[in-house]
Order: sequence, then structure tokens, then C-alpha cells
Amino acid sequence: MSAALRSAIRDVVDFPKPGIIFKDITPVLADGKLFHEAISLLCDTTGGVRIDKVVGIDARGFIFAAAVADRLGAGFIPVRKKGKLPWKTHEASYSLEYGENVVELHQDAIRPGETILMVDDLLATGGTAAAAVELLETLGADLVGISVLIELGFLNGREKLARHTVNSIITY
Ligand code: IMP
Repeated sequence: MSAALRSAIRDVVDFPKPGIIFKDITPVLADGKLFHEAISLLCDTTGGVRIDKVVGIDARGFIFAAAVADRLGAGFIPVRKKGKLPWKTHEASYSLEYGENVVELHQDAIRPGETILMVDDLLATGGTAAAAVELLETLGADLVGISVLIELGFLNGREKLARHTVNSIITY
């Protein structure tokens, strides 16, 4: 990974609320070379395993997952926040500091045994990814790995995903 990729990620203090340092990936997206590098590194995490479908998580995850899917010649499947997908869905909830979030997946998104790579921009507590894994398991997917551009290692998100291979490009 280039030093330029790491240094392009911008810390935004007190966003979206006081006390949070938000990792802003938009400078990576805005730079053609860095975006290309990020997608290449995410594609490399498959270790050459053929991927049928790349699952992206609402909303920044879509940007990376769709580009990875195109590069790998795979399909793209969105996991969305509740109420956004138009057809029949399965849903899974996960708890936040205050309250809970619900994510959904179309019931016909994946056929049993299809090989899946899950991609998101950032792994924090792992709650979002764990809920998405639950949805994929409902459909009998073969989850090859979970790949993220950024991992906030101090939040131990990968502990919630212990049964799966988690690859991150940049760790804090
Ligand atoms: P988790 O469920 O706590 O692992 O949070 C991960 C989700 O929240 C991902 O889908 C991210 O897009 C989003 N997220 C959390 N913190 C940040 C951040 O600092 N920058 C960008 N996205 C974040």
C-alpha cells in the first residue's frame, strides 16, 4: 500500500457528533490513482478465489464494492438500511450505543453456494458487518471474506466476525 493512500484519509473531529473522529475517505475517491489503488488492493484480498457476487454495505460501501465487482467480473449486491430495497427482503438488526439499526437484503439476491466477497469502507465495532453476515447466511451464501479499506483495530470489530476471514488495507 502506498503512503499516499494512507495519508489521503482525512480525520474529521467531532463528526457526526462530539467525541467522534470520523475517517473521511472522500479524498481517496477524488483521486483517480488512489481510488484505483484502493480497488486493486481490495481485489487482491480474494487470493485469486473466483467471486460470484460482491456484497456492498449502504452507503459508502457501495462505492468500493461496485468497483471491486466490476474489476472481478462479479455481480454486485446491496445490503441496505431498512426501507430502501423495493422487493421482498430478509432483515437483521444490530444494536448501537443508543437504539438499533436494521439492514435488509433481497430474498433472491444470492443462490445457495455462490461465492461472496463482502466489501465496506470501514470496520468499526463490527455490528453492521455482523448483521450483513447473518443475512448472507440466511441465503446459504459461501462467504469467502470480508474486506474493508479501513479497520479501526482498537474497536475490536473483527471479534464479532471471528468465523470469517477479515482483510483490511489500512489499520488504525
Ligand atoms: P460498525 O458497525 O461500528 O463496524 O460501523 C461501520 C459502519 O459505519 C460502516 O458501514 C461505515 O461506513 C460506518 N462508519 C463508522 N465510522 C466511520 C468513519 O469514521 N468513517 C466512515 N464510515 C464510518
